[in-house]
Amino acid sequence: MTDPDAFLSAARATLGERGLTGDPDLVEPWLTDWRGRFTGRALALASPASTSEVAELVRLCGAHRVGIVPQGGNSGMSGGATPDPSGAQLLLSLRRMNAIRAIDSDARQATCEAGVILETLHHAAEDRDLRFPLSLGGKGSATVGGLISTNAGGTQVLRHGSMRALVLGLEAVMPDGSIFDQLTPLKKDNRGFDLKQLLIGSEGTLGIVTAATLKLEPAVAARTVIWAGLDSLPAARELLLHCQAAEGEALEGFEVLPGHCLATVLRYLPDARSPLAGEHRWHALIELDAGSRDADSLADRVEAMLAAAFERGVIADAVIAQSEAQAEAFWRIRESIAPAERAAGPAVQHDVSVPLASVPGFVEEAVAQVEGRWPGSRAVAFGHLGDGNVHFHVIAPPGSDGPRWQESDGKPISRFVHDIVARWRGSISAEHGIGQLKRDELHRLGDPVALALMAKIKAALDPVGIMNPGKLL
Ligand SMILES: Cc1cc2nc3c(=O)[nH]c(=O)nc-3n(C[C@H](O)[C@H](O)[C@H](O)COP(=O)(O)OP(=O)(O)OC[C@H]3O[C@@H](n4cnc5c(N)ncnc54)[C@H](O)[C@@H]3O)c2cc1C
Repeated sequence: MTDPDAFLSAARATLGERGLTGDPDLVEPWLTDWRGRFTGRALALASPASTSEVAELVRLCGAHRVGIVPQGGNSGMSGGATPDPSGAQLLLSLRRMNAIRAIDSDARQATCEAGVILETLHHAAEDRDLRFPLSLGGKGSATVGGLISTNAGGTQVLRHGSMRALVLGLEAVMPDGSIFDQLTPLKKDNRGFDLKQLLIGSEGTLGIVTAATLKLEPAVAARTVIWAGLDSLPAARELLLHCQAAEGEALEGFEVLPGHCLATVLRYLPDARSPLAGEHRWHALIELDAGSRDADSLADRVEAMLAAAFERGVIADAVIAQSEAQAEAFWRIRESIAPAERAAGPAVQHDVSVPLASVPGFVEEAVAQVEGRWPGSRAVAFGHLGDGNVHFHVIAPPGSDGPRWQESDGKPISRFVHDIVARWRGSISAEHGIGQLKRDELHRLGDPVALALMAKIKAALDPVGIMNPGKLL
């Protein structure tokens, strides 16, 4: 960095008093990541109000060689939005840019600024009898810019895809301060590289997303939520294939969790009840949705689908939610796994994926190997079976001193788990990105050709290295 005072006064002149602060009370809440693993310091917190202010600020940062850490809702899981401890990086919050610029009901598109919170977008779409088909536990904080920059997933990827599939147009400020404007969606556009796809999932290392045009879907006219008890994970996979064959497009989500994980959630939520009377080794939470044309037949179709699954011996027991409240209660169990596990004791979390058909084999091997190698620990695998995405948590032996256990065993466990993932030809980051948490692991296990290409792209677009330094690459 050149002269910090000169930079700060130029930045204040660009953004005004509201747009730049060094007040510790205002800056400090944003210096630690959601999981509390990383804490940094910042030169200041910048909150531009428009794309042109972002562009001007980025030009200033380039001239003064100030590293920029873009931040949305700070709900990311990999420390990507947390500055380093030097105090020399600028925290650039997009939260003030929170306008929904337009919703086109006919085209089913919403154009939003980067700071729009996911839940706000859900409500705005609902008001027009539409929906934005991506949801996740952090929806009250996560912003459009953060969701795009991490290529977020969630519970509806099975049917609608992750952010990559939902971004139709993009506006971003590039590291030289130029504005990349491809906000207007074109169904057909073959003018070379799809540059917006390069920015999606780049975790703020290539540019700052300032706005996007997103795909909306018609509102759901009817939904059915099922809780099924199963004897094994291969049975869960068979049930998934059965549901896909029977209902195809209507299948919106397919989540799995082991019986002991359900027990942990029920201890955590004293007012919750197990959806099924008996005990089962595995459970599946399944949602099927229908539009207005086939809403009336959905319930009968689901009954027939389940009856056939029973007949084939795929499921041990199942219940269909009888009301919206019961459906929500089933989903609440699923969404409470992360906080329940966290309350149960220290754990090392992994967010991995393997080819769909390999999920049962991978889980069986990884659980046995980890528990064998670290006696007393417990490995919990749950997640989005329909996407091959396994959340693999390793819980410390009872009575462990959390911080000491994390310090001594955390990294070796993660390396061990990631090595197994690599043998199964999977990914060490299915949804949460690399950030600073998994950067070393990406470089240890990543394909050298892919890593070299990423480094070349980064060097070409951001030669000075101001965009989110120390993250991903
Ligand atoms: C309870 C809970 C459940 C979650 N469940 C899921 C889940 O199921 N699936 C899933 O994918 N994620 C999940 N997440 C993670 C998180 O919500 C997503 O990663 C989300 O996309 C982060 O959005 P954010 O606005 O909070 O981004 P931040 O945390 O602020 O930033 C995340 C990354 O994006 C960059 N960034 C942010 N805004 C911009 C911008 N405008 N331009 C360029 N770069 C930017 C940051 O620098 C950082 O690298 C969950 C989080 C919580 C707290």
